[in-house]
Amino acid sequence: MRIGIVGAGILGLAVARRMAREGAEVTVLEKEPRVAAHQTGHNSGVVHAGIYYQPGSLKATLCREGVAMLREYCAEHGLPYEEAGKLVVASTRAELPGLRRIAERARENGVPGVAELDAIGLREIEPYAAGVAAVHSPHTAITDFAAVARRLAADVAEAGGSVRLSHPVRAIRQTADGVLVAAGRERFSFDRLISCAGLGTDRVAELAGADGDVRIVPFRGEYYRLSGPAAGLVRGLIYPVPDPRYPFLGVHLTRRIDGEVLAGPNAVPALALEGYSWRRVSPRDLRAILSWPGTGKMAAEHWRTGVREVYGSLVKRAFTAAARRYVPALTPADLVRAGSGVRAQAVTRDGRLLDDFAIDVRGRIVLVRNAPSPAATSSLAIARHIALTVPLAF
Ligand SMILES: Cc1cc2nc3c(=O)[nH]c(=O)nc-3n(C[C@H](O)[C@H](O)[C@H](O)COP(=O)(O)OP(=O)(O)OC[C@H]3O[C@@H](n4cnc5c(N)ncnc54)[C@H](O)[C@@H]3O)c2cc1C
Repeated sequence: MRIGIVGAGILGLAVARRMAREGAEVTVLEKEPRVAAHQTGHNSGVVHAGIYYQPGSLKATLCREGVAMLREYCAEHGLPYEEAGKLVVASTRAELPGLRRIAERARENGVPGVAELDAIGLREIEPYAAGVAAVHSPHTAITDFAAVARRLAADVAEAGGSVRLSHPVRAIRQTADGVLVAAGRERFSFDRLISCAGLGTDRVAELAGADGDVRIVPFRGEYYRLSGPAAGLVRGLIYPVPDPRYPFLGVHLTRRIDGEVLAGPNAVPALALEGYSWRRVSPRDLRAILSWPGTGKMAAEHWRTGVREVYGSLVKRAFTAAARRYVPALTPADLVRAGSGVRAQAVTRDGRLLDDFAIDVRGRIVLVRNAPSPAATSSLAIARHIALTVPLAF
């Protein structure tokens, strides 16, 4: 079977590796000159343990399976993987019910080792953190997802597949017995096409004539780095109790595999699909985003949160205040800008931020419609899930 895959992020490469190892002839088409150029190379690097997600959802099951598969994969290939441990901290008593819900979910999802801590217990784990209580997930880990993606690409090549960089997919036609694809200056003929195009998902769906009932709305997440001795104020990962209305986890402090500590990401609307800063504006992308009925409905419901997030993006003191809630010793001088990532978040026609992973099958074409966090953590399990789904399309 000849399988084409759009996108050389961690998901496309995990799917390609899986299919190549099952004997398919695999070609990955990537528009950028390198793998992991977008979400996979611009994230927090956290291997989520699965404590947040609705039990029974794809996120909950594939995250748990994905962690086990990723841990083993990293061990097998000498890739970085460190169980830095995560604290979810309630900074006020009002947040205690939300924190309790997180602990219950963690138990329902079978996350190992989760403990509920009081104010003293949390300081034993993170001496500079402040809060009234916390949930500790000792097996939450950190890795380098871009390095994992590069290794996956090498596996694809070793299994006889090919990863074609600088090959933007420009046209797709489904015929009675295959899928014709134009990418870069070449034409390809596949038996199946699988799209893992992240921020480019809607464009690929449009080319495939598979409109669907969600659209990608890009949300930028901006980071600061803790400079100098301030990095010593954080041992592992310190997270707020998330607002259940949003799939985003709130500004957190994350020790990275290279020893740096990041604060962020926030969640502000990006003004282009690949809008990594306020200066990156695409009228074409904006027209598409704003003409989707769900965008206006979402904005009408969540504008207060939006204004607060934009303020935090523009005013460093406000961003610092979000981090200081959990580590009060931090000052604005400790924070240095450290880039951003753009989340490909699917929004429904009625303005809901789609929470779960979403995969559509249209004849010979499989479209990943929503693969936000923890999709990097879950990538190997999502690939297995897709490998099981594909033959069912016929
Ligand atoms: C700020 C931020 C923080 C995050 N933190 C975490 C975390 O800590 N842990 C975690 O598990 N997840 C995290 N995530 C989510 C995670 O990064 C993504 O879920 C994951 O990387 C998705 O992988 P992907 O391969 O689907 O997408 P991507 O990595 O975006 O890859 C899609 C690829 O498709 C290519 N493409 C698009 N259109 C075309 C086209 N027409 N032709 C050819 N190629 C095309 C793009 O160039 C891109 O390389 C975070 C995401 C962001 C943005």
